Amino acid sequence: MNTRIITIDGPAGAGKTTVSKCLSQKLGCVYVDTGALYRGVAYEIQQQKIDWENDIALEAFLKDIDLNFVMENDTFVLTSSGKDITKFIRTPEISMLASSSSAIPQVRAALLDIQRNIAKTKDAVFEGRDMGTVVFPGASVKFFLFADLSIRAERRFDEMPEKTKDIRKVKNEMKIRDNNDSHRKTAPLKPADDAIEIDSTLLTIEQVVNKMIGFIEKA
Ligand code: C5P
Repeated sequence: MNTRIITIDGPAGAGKTTVSKCLSQKLGCVYVDTGALYRGVAYEIQQQKIDWENDIALEAFLKDIDLNFVMENDTFVLTSSGKDITKFIRTPEISMLASSSSAIPQVRAALLDIQRNIAKTKDAVFEGRDMGTVVFPGASVKFFLFADLSIRAERRFDEMPEKTKDIRKVKNEMKIRDNNDSHRKTAPLKPADDAIEIDSTLLTIEQVVNKMIGFIEKA
């Protein structure tokens, strides 16, 4: 790999998205939210009512899926067959469906090329769950960002446009998702052996980003 690839993995609500955007701006490189791609797959599974536990139906669906993205004014805009689906992919239902469907090896394989192709030509910050372990084992610098569950749930709750759920539900769904993501057979959420682990529980975004820049400069 001749490009500079920085990976940021970690559980939901650890601050990956805000930190990744900020870091990519400071480094002047591309930012890729790989969770959005898994959410895009989940959204289409839901819309097209795909029986994703049926191998043949899943294979046909994955062969045709056409996800793309661009950054527009600081927002990661996701399209599916040319249609902007960004505003539909952040619901709690899609979060849970993304967590279960992303455990299927065929789904992960279908998204691998999209992610690796970007990295061939562009310096980038990639955020996700398996960036440092599976997708970019040779990344220039790898981070694993985590925080206490209660803080992560509070952050996620604060971001919700409508407080349709209570914080206990948000916390509970996050716990289920962490558990699914960490215990699946394929590409489980875990730090790469050479990842720098950062606990963001008591840190501001700026402190996390500055810490990361310190490590990147030394690398
Ligand atoms: O990061 P975000 O919360 O948007 O990701 C949604 C879900 O997509 C995660 O819970 C996880 O199951 C899945 N995901 C994944 N691998 C990635 C990124 C996200 O399995 N690289």
